[in-house]
Amino acid sequence: MSHRIALMGQKKRIALIAHDNKKADLLEWVKFNKGTLLKHELYATGTTGKLLEQELGSKITIFESGPLGGDQQIGARIAEGTIDFLIFFWDPLSPLPHDPDVKALLRIAVVWNIPIACNRASADFLISSPLMNQEYPRILPDYEGYKRRFKSQI
Ligand code: PGA
Repeated sequence: MSHRIALMGQKKRIALIAHDNKKADLLEWVKFNKGTLLKHELYATGTTGKLLEQELGSKITIFESGPLGGDQQIGARIAEGTIDFLIFFWDPLSPLPHDPDVKALLRIAVVWNIPIACNRASADFLISSPLMNQEYPRILPDYEGYKRRFKSQI
């Protein structure tokens, strides 16, 4: 499959989400990494976002609460190319009403090859990468062939 490049700017557009049992974990991580995070553009689902604004002392873009469509809003922006980084502390021990949305978001993040951290160790490695401070040529599979697959028939 051929590829194309989407350039991620030095300033990353980072979505942050934490399920209820993981919110304390994310808040602690955000507190520790506040200086770095504030250099980037931040987005979050409803409740996570409000907690993050308090912690950061700064406004961020807040979508709907996850179970009310927030995960899907973030997924849509990843597909549009307006969010390019995902920190998603999902809860592996509780069944949630919006499990299909969680799965969809994780899938779309893989489709568009954006960095994803789903636990604290991964988030630590991502945030301390030298790539956080520079542009990054994100390789995307070329989906043009897929989009044209019925072209001869329509
Ligand atoms: P919340 O949503 O930030 O509104 O709690 C997160 C989620 O459960 O996906």
